[in-house]
Amino acid sequence: MVEVKNLTKYYGSIKAVDDISFTVEPGEVLGFLGPNGAGKSTTMNMITGYLSSTSGTVTVDGHEILENPKEAKSKIGYLPEIPPLYIDMTVKKYLEFMFDLKKVKLPKKEHINEVMRLVHISEQSERIIKHLSKGYRQRVGLAQALLGNPPVIILDEPTVGLDPKQIIEIRNLIKSLGKKHTVIFSSHVLSEVSEICDRIIVVYQGKIVADAKTGELSSQISGGQKLAVQAEGNSADIIAAIKKIPAVIRVSKKNETHDGSVRYIIEYEKDSDIRKDVFNAMARIGCPILDMQSGNETLEDMFLKLTSGSASGKKGGK
Ligand code: ADP
Ligand code: MG
Repeated sequence: MVEVKNLTKYYGSIKAVDDISFTVEPGEVLGFLGPNGAGKSTTMNMITGYLSSTSGTVTVDGHEILENPKEAKSKIGYLPEIPPLYIDMTVKKYLEFMFDLKKVKLPKKEHINEVMRLVHISEQSERIIKHLSKGYRQRVGLAQALLGNPPVIILDEPTVGLDPKQIIEIRNLIKSLGKKHTVIFSSHVLSEVSEICDRIIVVYQGKIVADAKTGELSSQISGGQKLAVQAEGNSADIIAAIKKIPAVIRVSKKNETHDGSVRYIIEYEKDSDIRKDVFNAMARIGCPILDMQSGNETLEDMFLKLTSGSASGKKGGK
């Protein structure tokens, strides 16, 4: 539905987006996750044709955004970071105005009513936008994006600045949009993206550092599973013994505990179980195991790792 190929953007000498490529399938809800300054807005502005790329292409439903802007843009509803609202208009007047501007071909009154119903602002339809709360304004922005029923909806940090209740409402709205539309939305909040999306692309310093199905992301980043083992004895011997286990990828010493034992984090290959091997290895060198815990890296761990610059250039699939 949306195909982004080798997209790059320079602002003067600053490279804001660096060779980004990905494809979004119809009906997919894609989360574009990254810290401030990662290049999310710049990428979205290029996908929607608001900004031209330095190089690379964007194709929406078969139309290249710069070659066939009219066709491509008609397939997209966009809610930019700062919604383009005319705050002196009433909600209804504004939506009628945007309806005309977008040259929507649907029956006007019914369609606007339908869109207002969808984002739950029918009761505010006669209110002047500047008198609305930030949460309601955001819904008006969302309504504007939905005019004309475009198959692709792009939302740039739609929950920023909202209170917790409004955030939940907007998230639920986005989830419901995913039933009928292809949705790309950006956020710097990991929990929000993993709650709403089927797939997550993590961007950092203009580059894609991960691209995976929401559930698969953590194992893809860590490259394996983790086992935390607390053991007593000489650290060098323990590490050497663990490293001899075939499925082990790496071992690191985490911290020393009060009783003099040490916690080790063992990263090992997916689909294997090294618990018995670790037990046998420790028994062989006479080092008692005090505790053993398995678990995958959480998304939160992964995000910290990726954004602290220690991602070591690992890239996700696609
Ligand atoms: P995000 O939306 O992820 O916070 P942006 O796409 O807004 O990131 O910004 C990416 C980088 O490009 C940042 O380093 C930002 O400072 C820079 N940038 C964004 N817009 C401009 C601009 N108009 N002129 C110069 N630099 C810009
Ligand atoms: Mg932004």
